[in-house]
Amino acid sequence: MTEAAVRLVSVTKDFGAVRAVDGVDLSLAGGEFFSLLGPSGSGKTTLLRLVAGFERPTTGRVELSGREVTALPPHRRDVRTVFQDYALFPHMSVEQNVAYALMVRGVRKAERLARAREALATVRLDGFGPRRPAELSGGQRQRVALARALVDRPAVLLLDEPLGALDLSLRRRMQTELKELQRTTGITFLLVTHDQEEALTMSDRVAVVSDGRIEQIGPPVEVYERPATAFVAGFMGTTNLLRGAAARRVVGRPGTFSIRPERIRLADLAEPPAEGERTVTGRVADIVHAGAHTRFTIALPHDDRLTVIRQNLAGLPPSVRPDAEIRLLWDHDDAFPLPS
Ligand code: ATP
Repeated sequence: MTEAAVRLVSVTKDFGAVRAVDGVDLSLAGGEFFSLLGPSGSGKTTLLRLVAGFERPTTGRVELSGREVTALPPHRRDVRTVFQDYALFPHMSVEQNVAYALMVRGVRKAERLARAREALATVRLDGFGPRRPAELSGGQRQRVALARALVDRPAVLLLDEPLGALDLSLRRRMQTELKELQRTTGITFLLVTHDQEEALTMSDRVAVVSDGRIEQIGPPVEVYERPATAFVAGFMGTTNLLRGAAARRVVGRPGTFSIRPERIRLADLAEPPAEGERTVTGRVADIVHAGAHTRFTIALPHDDRLTVIRQNLAGLPPSVRPDAEIRLLWDHDDAFPLPS
């Protein structure tokens, strides 16, 4: 087995009375694109800073490539960080910004420049070397920050909401570029984000963080399709979450259940359920055409609601229209229980 690029063992971090990280075990494979996904204040940034060496754990250990680094300062770790605000030096040219880490390490000028140019080419900023950061767009500044972090080829690159300052369309484009950059360089990427789509589209694996703890770790499809806890299901925001009395009424059992909106079939009131199917009836409260799919909100008795998503409207009975009473059907197995 190859050793982990990053490993946290039973790591806890307290700030006074606040436990920001609570007994986290985490292991990243070399060359992996890994994301920490969670709401504000869940402890993502603290986890990243523990790997970078800006924070020391209260208890537990940090390893990089099989070597314990728990007590080592940031500059003695083979890790670089890209911050949300990029932290570029405004009075230096782009090239000087990128070459800075090499200068500090005493690399000779000719080699510094050659490597800075190479790093700028990697992020498609050839020819931008003489400019100042103020003369660049947000997306270009972002790429300078990346080039600066990549210039001395760290084993691990840490990214703290690196696309947070960009508008949505640029953000989506940079997501593709970042993923591509990770693939071509083979560097292990650890990304912090609160954007579900960002984590799901870019990562090999995602850890969902809540209250300093990891709720679930897995490939994006697994976290999306099979949330392990009610928190994950709720945070992904894409499933029907039924608890307590609603679970008893809709699923027919007590507990907490998730039913994916795309697994529910809309049918005529008269259609009987097939073997192994469950059913409820409800009223079509809302229909939203959202580009590639259509989202139906169905109002059930007792104020319960279910969201249903259909990619394809062909085959939908004509009775499915606003305010109509209709039948919902799903496979028994598609309502799966969650520990609450
Ligand atoms: P965000 O997405 O808002 O950046 P986060 O998930 O990165 O949030 P952290 O910044 O890691 O969360 O914070 C986790 C908890 O630790 C929060 O309750 C925060 O207030 C607390 N915290 C973080 N840094 C410090 C500090 N230096 N001193 C005191 N408390 C801190």
